Amino acid sequence: MKLGQLDVLAASDGLAWFDGGGIFGVVPKPLWSRYVQADEKNRVAVGLNSLLIRTPSCTAIVDTGMGWEDWPPKKRKIYNLDNTVNLIDSLKKLGIEPGDIDLVLLTHLHIDHVGGCLIDGKPVFSKARHIVQKQEWHDATHPHPVRKGAYLPHQFMGLKEHGLLELIEGDTEIASGIRAVAAGGHTRGYQTFMVESEGKKLFFLGETVGSPVHIKPHYLMAYDLYPVDVAEFKVDIIQRGIRENWLFFFEHDPQLTFARFEDDGDGGAKVVPCAL
Ligand SMILES: [Zn+2]
Repeated sequence: MKLGQLDVLAASDGLAWFDGGGIFGVVPKPLWSRYVQADEKNRVAVGLNSLLIRTPSCTAIVDTGMGWEDWPPKKRKIYNLDNTVNLIDSLKKLGIEPGDIDLVLLTHLHIDHVGGCLIDGKPVFSKARHIVQKQEWHDATHPHPVRKGAYLPHQFMGLKEHGLLELIEGDTEIASGIRAVAAGGHTRGYQTFMVESEGKKLFFLGETVGSPVHIKPHYLMAYDLYPVDVAEFKVDIIQRGIRENWLFFFEHDPQLTFARFEDDGDGGAKVVPCAL
């Protein structure tokens, strides 16, 4: 898809299945199950969608999925990891080799966002700068009991050892047309990305609006450490996106990636899928 002078494309690391209570937080199952079917273990399918950005000067990817290659069979079963699709093959289908990637933009370091960066401790995107907020790196490397389970150090420690890690603080211009937005909320160091060319804007939704079902302000994940902050940021982003006709990218929907939002005429927003 074209965004001004840039190409923006969807890549995938397949699907993972997470507990429905984790994905929908305090929303009761009788409500969320109107939209999403849970399996017999109460898990729901979560897309592991990565955004590929090609600018005249660089190729960037936002988030790298779960990297199922590194997962032992028992753990793979917990998340019912779909090993028929992986990020590297998905990128190849788009004509991109791992060595072509200049920038790996990481929203945060949770297990389903950073898993494709290292395989057996070796960097996959060996020429890329890997961009992380300093606060996120601190929190991921100083585990607190509340947040410890969401991080797997072997998924990211090697980035530092191989000199590929670049820590930033707050909103930062990463490359021409790509800006990091320090959003907090989901984790203290959570960031997302705004892509812009010739006045056209694409906002990476990441954990802010995981899927179209999460468009309602109170549909927050149990994994959100500061849920009220997520809700406020979400409302603001959706309203700005409607006013300025932004393109959005869903990271966690099993099918939908690119969409726009419209006023639903009832004080909320509705999702309008964009054809690829
Ligand atoms: Zn997360």
